[in-house]
Amino acid sequence: MKKELYDVIIIGAGVIGASIARFLSRFNVKCLILEKHNDVGEEASGANSAIVHSGYDPKPNTLKAKFNVIGAKMFDKINDELDVNYIKTGTLTIGFNNDDLITLKSLKERGEINGVETSIIGKDELFKLEPNLNKNVLYGLYAKEAGIVNPFLLVSGLIENALENNIDLKLNSEVIKIEKIMDFYRVFTKDKGIYETKVLVNASGRNGDYITSFIEKPKFKITPRKGQYILFDHFDDHFINRPLFMCPTKMGKGVLVSKTTSNNYYIGPTNEASSLDDVSTTKEGFDYLKKESLKLINNLPIKDAIREFSGVRANNNIDDFIIEESNLNEGFFNVSSIMSPGLASSLAIGEYVSNLIQNRLNLKINENYNPYIRKYPKFNNYEKLKDLININPLYGKFICRCEKVSEGMIIDMIHRKGGPTTVKGIKKRLRAGFGRCQGTFCQEEVIKILSRELNIPIDEVNYSDLGTNILKYRSK
Ligand SMILES: Cc1cc2nc3c(=O)[nH]c(=O)nc-3n(C[C@H](O)[C@H](O)[C@H](O)COP(=O)(O)OP(=O)(O)OC[C@H]3O[C@@H](n4cnc5c(N)ncnc54)[C@H](O)[C@@H]3O)c2cc1C
Repeated sequence: MKKELYDVIIIGAGVIGASIARFLSRFNVKCLILEKHNDVGEEASGANSAIVHSGYDPKPNTLKAKFNVIGAKMFDKINDELDVNYIKTGTLTIGFNNDDLITLKSLKERGEINGVETSIIGKDELFKLEPNLNKNVLYGLYAKEAGIVNPFLLVSGLIENALENNIDLKLNSEVIKIEKIMDFYRVFTKDKGIYETKVLVNASGRNGDYITSFIEKPKFKITPRKGQYILFDHFDDHFINRPLFMCPTKMGKGVLVSKTTSNNYYIGPTNEASSLDDVSTTKEGFDYLKKESLKLINNLPIKDAIREFSGVRANNNIDDFIIEESNLNEGFFNVSSIMSPGLASSLAIGEYVSNLIQNRLNLKINENYNPYIRKYPKFNNYEKLKDLININPLYGKFICRCEKVSEGMIIDMIHRKGGPTTVKGIKKRLRAGFGRCQGTFCQEEVIKILSRELNIPIDEVNYSDLGTNILKYRSK
């Protein structure tokens, strides 16, 4: 049977695949994203430190340095277009002694080569910025252009906008084989059909070398490294005001203390050898993070820890991003093994790769391209809430009391393009279930709303991937 021929197929709906798709939607293109999970942003893009690094840290003249510096500057605009909760907090890298001061000075020089302004500050200024620092800190490298973002909303916003501009997405579609046939690629998925395309983009994150091996011998090898985190409840709005790093070593950036865009605090990540899909958390990880973080801050209300989670880094033996069109197979773009600072670089990578594809396929401008998604219904005061309730009374019916998420907000989210179909999907985008009770009170209501709005039986509502339904069978 003759298959429909796509211009572009992107494997993977993490932040990189999502960003490439969104920037590609500026052109008239027939493009499909294939994602193996039941939602977008389920791997590294959904479990990271959420920091938009300014770009002083990567080695000069690497792809990491290039895309981080350009990418960080794109967040103000994307915040306006996609409502991703970007906050320019700045970051502080902390030094405790003269050796650290030497490291901070060399990082500052590196920043100058990369074109990123930083300043070294002493104890007095440090404590004005961060009163809860450990009293042993002496120096800080302040990068004022850095910030934090909501990584879930970044991925879902990019996807929603791409779909609004006519890109297609198929979830639960794991790519298991690829064939090169003359001047196109045939892509086989597990049980979800076979597709053909002129251009193939490998944005499969930590599976990048494996996916490449379907077509050619990969030039890089991925060595996954797990990072565990501890997440805290909101306890004091200004406990810390920005991400605090230790001085980096050969083993990476070390443990950091930071806050989310919703004012939860977290500590992490560990840096451990792991398998590709090991997202477990351990007591050793918890104890290590607790011990290390106390070097940075004075005191940590450990009783306010509400959850642990892990993400897996797609580190490789080249120690840089893989972003290239294959010189053996025309039209095969490898944009995988994107480790930190991949989130901060994602917009620049998406724009760059989409321009390469536009050139290769000679794509015309999409005259109907709209860079905005519909603003999320939000309230930060009673008057705004009243306005929302006037539009729809369900905006006043609170489902998640910890994080103040109402039924109206959940319904709005479900009916967006690429909207959530799972309990975790609601949790990621709206924070229902993210708070202190971790869904004890709201999960049941969320399941009922998903069942009703998606018109599926209640026992078919999944927590995340297919087969993770919470209600297993009906009792009397
Ligand atoms: C612990 C940790 C902390 C980090 N902190 C930061 C930070 O603070 N700032 C920063 O800039 N960066 C950070 N990063 C890096 C950043 O998270 C990644 O660079 C970024 O998320 C990579 O996005 P991606 O789309 O390439 O990969 P992923 O998010 O992993 O997406 C790849 C997608 O491909 C899909 N896929 C894989 N195989 C297949 C297949 N066969 N068929 C179909 N789909 C497939 C996967 O399901 C997945 O959805 C951190 C990473 C980790 C792990």
